[in-house]
Amino acid sequence: MDHAGRLSRLRSALGENDLDSLLVTHLPNIHYLCGFTGSAAALLVADRGAVLFTDGRYIAQAKEEVKGARIVIARKSPLVAAVEWVVTEYGTSTAVGIEPEAITAGMRDRIASVLKGKARLRPAPPLVERARLVKDAAEIVRIRRAVELGASLFQIARKKIRPGVTEVEVAAAMEYEARRAGAEGMSFPTILASGTRSAIVHGRASGARISRRGFVVCDFGVILAGYCSDRTRTVHVGQPSAEARRLYEAVREAQQEAISAVRPGATAAEVDGAARRVLRKRKLARYFTHSTGHGLGLEIHEAPRLAKGQTQKLEPGMVITIEPGAYVPGKWGVRIEDVVVVTPSGCEVLTPTDKELVII
Ligand code: ZN
Ligand code: ZN
Repeated sequence: MDHAGRLSRLRSALGENDLDSLLVTHLPNIHYLCGFTGSAAALLVADRGAVLFTDGRYIAQAKEEVKGARIVIARKSPLVAAVEWVVTEYGTSTAVGIEPEAITAGMRDRIASVLKGKARLRPAPPLVERARLVKDAAEIVRIRRAVELGASLFQIARKKIRPGVTEVEVAAAMEYEARRAGAEGMSFPTILASGTRSAIVHGRASGARISRRGFVVCDFGVILAGYCSDRTRTVHVGQPSAEARRLYEAVREAQQEAISAVRPGATAAEVDGAARRVLRKRKLARYFTHSTGHGLGLEIHEAPRLAKGQTQKLEPGMVITIEPGAYVPGKWGVRIEDVVVVTPSGCEVLTPTDKELVII
């Protein structure tokens, strides 16, 4: 991973934003910038270099992982150590940027009590998140691998889903296989929602038994070498009614239309609109209650968000999900989701697979 390049681009962005340094506290941003994956850290990035502050639990790990930054093992909290460093090393009248989305009111108070007005604290724009929007080739290789491993788990779901089996039994089999195959974990709690529960958008696998007839929404992903995957397939147990088939086909068409709308220069809102238009034609728009997709990478949900009003233009190298759905409360729901990477001419669906309705 090009940590040196990422840090140097961030340093140039600091100047453009009138900041002398940036105090990075969002752990996935720290991971992105210098490779460190521990759970306690603050990364101070300034013109004269980057310094990672962590605690005694991470001495060996920091040495092994951190690239492009000096390591300081703090006796107190890494955050306080980083701010004390600012005061002693950078002196007064320096402008320190903080990540407003990753700082609690308590953290802000602690920073202020150490600074005692000796440096100016300023909420910074989301500079690291902006850099993370476009993935480099090495990241895309990792995402592709995560998506491939994640996708293979659907075969387990297909075998395990049977009337009378509980949702958690199916999810557990998928998660066991994921870990055996090298995943660090799941990228979110596996969603397995059967029968009327399929109408719950985020129906985590429960003790409910799969009924003899109806949809089962399976939404799952793994973390492999730090990168997330995300995929949804909806299967039908027993013969589907004509109405069930129509619902499934409408969502499938909406997903295909949204994928076709992905290309450089298109806005996130346009892709969302493409999916919504299909469902509106089928009088299903009011059952599509979430956004069409999201970026993913080191985190399962990253920018951009594919929703109404989102003016972010797509660029080659962005990796996003396309996941329209339709949910009729108390009755049933369908969602189909793939991960796509924006290419110079359109997009590539990572692991393209058949999306015919699977009947179990
Ligand atoms: Zn998703
Ligand atoms: Zn998903």
